[in-house]
Amino acid sequence: MKKRLLLAFSLLVTGAQAQSPDSVTIRKIYNEVLTNSPSYEWLRHLTQKIGPRLSGSEGAQKAVDWTKQLMEQQGFDRVFLQEVMVPHWVRGAKEVAYIQNGNQKITVPIAALGGSVATPAKGIEAQVIEVKSFQELRDLGTGKVKGKIVFYNRPMDPTKLNTFEAYAGAVDQRGNGATEAARLGAVGTIVRSMTTALDDNPHTGGMRYATGVPLIPAAAISTNGAERLSKMLKDNPGLTFYFKQNCETLPDAKSYNVVGEIKGSEKPDEIIVVGGHLDSWDIGQGAHDDGSGCMQSIEVLRALKALGIKPKRTLRAVMFMNEENGLRGGIGYADYAKKNNENHIAAVESDNGGFTPRGFGIVGTPEQRAKAIAWKPLLAPYGLHEIGAGSGGADIGPLAQLGTVLFGFKPDSQRYFDFHHAGIDRFEGVNKRELELGAASMAALVYLLDQHGL
Ligand SMILES: [Zn+2]
Repeated sequence: MKKRLLLAFSLLVTGAQAQSPDSVTIRKIYNEVLTNSPSYEWLRHLTQKIGPRLSGSEGAQKAVDWTKQLMEQQGFDRVFLQEVMVPHWVRGAKEVAYIQNGNQKITVPIAALGGSVATPAKGIEAQVIEVKSFQELRDLGTGKVKGKIVFYNRPMDPTKLNTFEAYAGAVDQRGNGATEAARLGAVGTIVRSMTTALDDNPHTGGMRYATGVPLIPAAAISTNGAERLSKMLKDNPGLTFYFKQNCETLPDAKSYNVVGEIKGSEKPDEIIVVGGHLDSWDIGQGAHDDGSGCMQSIEVLRALKALGIKPKRTLRAVMFMNEENGLRGGIGYADYAKKNNENHIAAVESDNGGFTPRGFGIVGTPEQRAKAIAWKPLLAPYGLHEIGAGSGGADIGPLAQLGTVLFGFKPDSQRYFDFHHAGIDRFEGVNKRELELGAASMAALVYLLDQHGL
């Protein structure tokens, strides 16, 4: 093609695109959210006025009541609760830990892992065996592990550009470390915090016990603490580690998913979900994880309504309960959908932090993916370049078995694990514009899903 002709052609294409109803509407969605969104102030209330929201806690119940009220105030067609029973684990008094190296006693920051048992009331003190993998632990065998505290110290791989991949490559130590160590007679486990940052914040998170294996206490140690312990062990493999924690699992508690709905005008039986999880860990405020995703999800419905967009299909904002230590809300939501014969065509989840949007991961058939990928020219001008096969989200995961296509909102991942499950996951860590851009991105996708289906 001649150069001038090419220029004319590309002008024509851009011009045509700028005029397409979809691109005009998406521009309006961004304008609305970036100008009028209350989502940042909502997040302030959720994180600072309500605070941490671990399943079964008073904070979790307050968050249920408040988000229900908030969605009612938005004038959505229907707001309702879905009852679910959730695990009720409590941390108890703050943990204590130190390294005893001869006469030297060095206090280190730890946090009990969610679901862990307590130590005996006077704490546990034992020699430490450091490993980087379960294989290394098994190779050591009972002889070297029995009676000791196993210290898992394999860092998240810093060379992974997507930090979620680095997390996935290290989190087995947190999830199954206690069971693997207990099989060989260990008395406790300490795991290096799941973060690429070197700092003094222990990062908690879920862990599981296997049946038939002794339940031994498990805690996360800050990365600086882990580095220090590892270095000292090299000089003195005979040093001891002391820790004391007071956590406890109480009987399951009654809780709820909170759902806000705008009824579809043409195909009300086809449902599109956008959601995040309302529960959070107890040591921060659950700002990035996942107050952001919840507020963004409500903002999606608010913004579309404010623009006078009447969706063809039924749209739901869902605040899932108990993602962190049980997933009962996500499982329960899919159970209700199945029982009520609901047809969920798509679900979008935001649970990767309130950072600058990059795109969406898709779980669906190649044909369904191709349809969504074809919308890329409409979304790329807003920084959404990464649209393709990926992961959806933990809470919406159970909907896949009903044939729902899943979309995981993908913000930039570089700073997420600085905050994840740590005391510093607080309101101040979330940037207003980044939060709003995420909400607008999700609203744009929901709009396209509603207009064109899959
Ligand atoms: Zn989360």
